[in-house]
Amino acid sequence: MGMSWEDTIDKVKGVGPKKAQALKKLGISTLYDLLTYYPRAYIDQSHRTPFAELRAGETATVSGVITNLNERRGSRRGMTILTAVLSDGTGWLQMTWFNQPFLKKKLLPGKRVLATGKLTYAFGGRGALAMSQMQTFEVLEAENNTSFGVLPVYSSTEALNQNYFRKIIHELLTNHPELPEVIPGAVIERFELIDRWKAFAAIHFPESMEQLRRARARLAFEELYVIQCGLLLIRKETVEKEKGIRHLMDSRLMKQVYGLLPFKLTADQAAVWKEISADMEKNVPMRRLVQGDVGSGKTALALLALAKTIENGYQGAFMAPTEILARQHYEKISALLKDTQIRVGLLVGSLTPKKHREILEQIGNHELDLIVGTHALIQEKVVFDALGLVVTDEQHRFGISQRAALSKKSDVTPDVLVMTATPIPRTMTLTVYGDLDVSRIEHLPPGRQPIRTFLRHSDRRGLIYDFVRKEIESGRQAYVVCPLIEHDDENADNRLCAAVDVFEELSHGVFYGIPCGLVHGRLPAKEKEQVMTDFHDGKLKLLVSTTVIEVGVDVPNASIMVIENADRFGLAQLHQLRGRVGRGTAKSYCILVSENRSPKTQERLKIMEQTSNGFVLAEEDLRLRGPGQFFGAMQHGLGDLKIANVLTDTDILMKARRAAKETMITDDERRYMEQLLAIRYKMNFEHITDS
Ligand code: ADP
Ligand code: MG
Repeated sequence: MGMSWEDTIDKVKGVGPKKAQALKKLGISTLYDLLTYYPRAYIDQSHRTPFAELRAGETATVSGVITNLNERRGSRRGMTILTAVLSDGTGWLQMTWFNQPFLKKKLLPGKRVLATGKLTYAFGGRGALAMSQMQTFEVLEAENNTSFGVLPVYSSTEALNQNYFRKIIHELLTNHPELPEVIPGAVIERFELIDRWKAFAAIHFPESMEQLRRARARLAFEELYVIQCGLLLIRKETVEKEKGIRHLMDSRLMKQVYGLLPFKLTADQAAVWKEISADMEKNVPMRRLVQGDVGSGKTALALLALAKTIENGYQGAFMAPTEILARQHYEKISALLKDTQIRVGLLVGSLTPKKHREILEQIGNHELDLIVGTHALIQEKVVFDALGLVVTDEQHRFGISQRAALSKKSDVTPDVLVMTATPIPRTMTLTVYGDLDVSRIEHLPPGRQPIRTFLRHSDRRGLIYDFVRKEIESGRQAYVVCPLIEHDDENADNRLCAAVDVFEELSHGVFYGIPCGLVHGRLPAKEKEQVMTDFHDGKLKLLVSTTVIEVGVDVPNASIMVIENADRFGLAQLHQLRGRVGRGTAKSYCILVSENRSPKTQERLKIMEQTSNGFVLAEEDLRLRGPGQFFGAMQHGLGDLKIANVLTDTDILMKARRAAKETMITDDERRYMEQLLAIRYKMNFEHITDS
């Protein structure tokens, strides 16, 4: 019978329509989903806790001899309660079974019981402990050496309990065809990986902690290996197969542009610029990512790279994530370059059809050298005469497939420079940007005013907003950032999280008479841009928003930011938000408001007061909140990692990367991997499997 791992979950014995629905809520709809629904924890039953060391509230595995068994009727009709008293030489433990009268034939005094369960105080037992709701128990025949091994614990819900998961996953593992191996034999041997199917079995039902460790390592390796192969494939398709542009060493125009920069490059900028120009001078296409905090001076590097491609007779494209940012870049760049030969144009969605056509024509005829725009720039109908370099800022709006699509624009492959202000921990750059070379700008240019950051409890809101009002009255502008757009009715106490509510409250309250604006992701794009523009032009003094402003406008006059319910954000994100102020000469403030008094939250947010280094914050975030958030933000395109942990599995990651490099050499190997990736990541790899 044809049976596929993509079959729906109701093919598993024990899964009816109701359960299938409940499973779907957890993201489990296929057999493969269930197979990869990995336990969130394990109970090591090979470790037994002596009775004397048991604590109420804990889950433990115990073993003891039955000294006494007693059956009672419960108060409800037909209810039976079996109570056994066990001894293990260190103490006594009571165990209770409800409505299982048949067990009394097995639970004979003198027999040994092995059980895992949660401990509670015995009813009326004056502090004595009892175990009920056993997760497993077994009556051992003599002093034999039966052991339960390690018990999986799943993220369960009310409708789907632990035992149910254990049952259906066990059923899946025993009565369904084995999944074939995907990692090449040579890699398995070389890295001493255990068999794939064995690993699936052991990740759910390990016989020992050692076996579990090896199963986890194998599955984590596979996850990372496949991603690395995908990234290398992209790299090979875009970089190694295609001919790049060999830019020449800097000459007259470059010297002129250097001279126009109103500052000297910092040491970090100079080092990164060296890497960029070396890439551009090679005949393989550049694929480089520059990571640097907001304000670290990435734009200057972009400008130099664009000038370099123009000096070599090519055109440069500079893409921004939003129209308003594109306009800002356009204005700054054309002002700076007005006395050079470089012809600068702007291509955005809101141009009149006539103007739009004109610009497209000028791009096609090479009457423009540098085009600033939004992602409209890499759409199919934009035909460049000779595109030499694409700079995109804000990687997180620019997925892997778009990166690859660029290479199809002309016969030579343009260089690509990606700018990101999202600091990603070093340990993660390989997983997220494995197809790119990475440069970092660690230090900000000199003379920058630090943003003074304060953590305040929400009972101080009155004082905080009085302060904001004073700042506005002395000519400044302010942001108020909220984690949600609207509050949900069920949870009316989260009103302070919701931009819509906060806007209502502030604009009619403490800021009455001051022009306030509201912006969030659900507003129509036109309206959003209008509010942003009004704030930029100073028509609005206070802007209440969600995180949409993260990549928004540059408003040097905005010097104060209040972040409501700051504990709902990650540190990296708070830092990103904070970067919106402190762009001018005024003293700048960021006030984090939180009503959460837990020491852990306080400690986390306090770090914001102490450092302004985005990379440090990103590392802290990774340590405190785990890697998931980074993938979310990155639109990394390859799905979340289900088992590998980029924080702790660095070793495995490095091995997986090495293995990927070694196995992606012959055409056969690559074709095999393409097929595998096409199955797993249909969408993202279409452009590769096409060719
Ligand atoms: P990013 O794009 O990384 O956010 P920008 O390129 O916009 O940062 O630079 C932020 C500010 O710092 C700009 O006003 C820019 O003129 C200034 N700047 C950039 N590099 C230097 C430098 N080497 N020395 C002094 N100021 C600099
Ligand atoms: Mg090159």
